[in-house]
Amino acid sequence: MAEYILESNGEKWEIICGLEIHCQIISKSKIFSGASTEFGVDANENVSFVDVAMPGMLPVLNMECVKQAVKTGLGLNAKINKFSQFSRKNYFYADLPQGYQITQEKHPLIGEGHVSIDLSDGTTKEIGIERIHIEQDTGKSIHDIDPKKSFIDYNRAGVGLMELVTKPDFRSPDEAGAFLRKLRSIVRYLGTCDGNMDEGSMRCDASVSIRKVGETGFRPRCEIKNVNSVKFAMQAIEAEAKRQLEIYEKGESFEQESRQFDPTTCTTKYMRKKEYAHEYRQFPEPDLPPLVLTDEFIEEIKSQLVELPDEKKRRYISQMGLTAYDAMVICENKEVAEFFEEASDGHDAKKVANWLMGDFFAMLNKKGVDINNSPVSAKNLGKLVELISKDIISGKIAKDVFEIMSETGGDPEVIVEEKGLKQVTDTSAIEAIVDEIIANNPDNVASYKAGKNNLLGWFVGQVMKQSQGKANPGVVNKLLRDKLDN
Ligand code: MN
Repeated sequence: MAEYILESNGEKWEIICGLEIHCQIISKSKIFSGASTEFGVDANENVSFVDVAMPGMLPVLNMECVKQAVKTGLGLNAKINKFSQFSRKNYFYADLPQGYQITQEKHPLIGEGHVSIDLSDGTTKEIGIERIHIEQDTGKSIHDIDPKKSFIDYNRAGVGLMELVTKPDFRSPDEAGAFLRKLRSIVRYLGTCDGNMDEGSMRCDASVSIRKVGETGFRPRCEIKNVNSVKFAMQAIEAEAKRQLEIYEKGESFEQESRQFDPTTCTTKYMRKKEYAHEYRQFPEPDLPPLVLTDEFIEEIKSQLVELPDEKKRRYISQMGLTAYDAMVICENKEVAEFFEEASDGHDAKKVANWLMGDFFAMLNKKGVDINNSPVSAKNLGKLVELISKDIISGKIAKDVFEIMSETGGDPEVIVEEKGLKQVTDTSAIEAIVDEIIANNPDNVASYKAGKNNLLGWFVGQVMKQSQGKANPGVVNKLLRDKLDN
């Protein structure tokens, strides 16, 4: 990875960044109540008495949320803490009817872990995970319906969250972007969070500071809250680092604060001064006992783990002959990987990967559809590659067949049969055409023999044209050389 260094008055500065990511847990019901977590229903449809803190209501831990968090921890190579404890984080806000959030402070469910990120130059870097704890989400305030009133929707109140905190290991916006993409990919593989940043089911806070290269220790940092896309996270980190550098250039300093990223101006702006942990007066949650897990519980979840992107990538490279880049792109998305595995089953995997990365993705892009709605099925893409591998059609004809497949969703074998596109490999049939072309173009034959070697391509083109693209190009080349070079 090329180093990301800011320069100012001949001095070099580096970025120190850590991320905090809130991931909504996929679970039918909320973390402490039986209310549904369904997205997109009417406001305040999915609200139980517990979610709005009616007097006397008590939370009951949904073990499905615990399982999902443990699964995520295992997928991030993290330590699962058999003992964890809930705590109350006290603050007032209209979207938090209890007046406190039930979270985990001193004893999180998941401890340290690590994730390997794929960088644009093909290298990887390990990013440390500090912890993951589980907690409840807040409701949503709505300020844009009425000029004088605010409204509140408690559907989200009490939805289970995993809050993941990384170590301050990021040294560039690219690294942070690669991490977000990797995390999203892993939770989607695991089925523990849908990873949709634009819908708010994965929300990222970035903590940014800078320091002179060679300096030890950290300077004050600012936290950019609730960034809702990978691109914005990268832009926000870059903008914030440059803002801090400008302050230092003027010989000034600043205090820790929370800031907001404005994508229209690509700048961060002041939100509020940074809260400190002690201001929340956290204490152990008296309504919930400590969470104690058994080895059997953890082992059971471990046994259900699916093959994750890194493991898959290694297998694609070592066993299927893919390049690191192709393997990375295909593995990032679970549906793409599944499509690829079905398409390459029994066929040349490297060729399938080339088609997938080339014409196939281009077709999806052009049509604006995702892979689940592709008109070309995995089986049919595999068959197409097989037709090329067996020399039944040429690579050029295959492109035409693919074009038809993407319009009709048809089977390539049927298309090739019906349209009579089978490649002619029968030497005598091709030889007849070659002889005809040579006989009809004595001038070009003379020029070729006189040393104009690049005319060979012209001859090949003529033969291919006459055979309507069906002649095997290898055979055509060989025959032309045999006849023209002697
Ligand atoms: Mn949180």
